[in-house]
Amino acid sequence: MICCQLAKGTLTRRALIENFEVVKEYDPQPKNKDGSVRWFLYGWDDGKNGVRRLARCKHCGSFFLIQAYHLHKFSEYANVQFEPWYSIGSESEADYVNATYTGLQWELEHKPVIRCADDEVMC
Ligand SMILES: [Zn+2]
Repeated sequence: MICCQLAKGTLTRRALIENFEVVKEYDPQPKNKDGSVRWFLYGWDDGKNGVRRLARCKHCGSFFLIQAYHLHKFSEYANVQFEPWYSIGSESEADYVNATYTGLQWELEHKPVIRCADDEVMC
């Protein structure tokens, strides 16, 4: 068992599943009050393959916002899968980020602390 405080950087899918629990999964297409789609999670792709999750370390309770996605449109990165994990203070903070930032905006302003080493992204 590995706490996130010791194991930052790149972790295998197996290590992530063993040491973290997914608290919730966000709607990848946040809606306006009238029900229309506010934005797709990823502006540079079709937005259908991205998902945000909130995960918690089983050992210390720290929260992480995950932006999992794969790209299709650019041949150079066709089918490359990404899963950066960002440190986040609390569930309410993650809810706020999800409602406020597009995936691209968040990624440009924040640095992930954990990445999944495997290709098998759960989205
Ligand atoms: Zn931890």
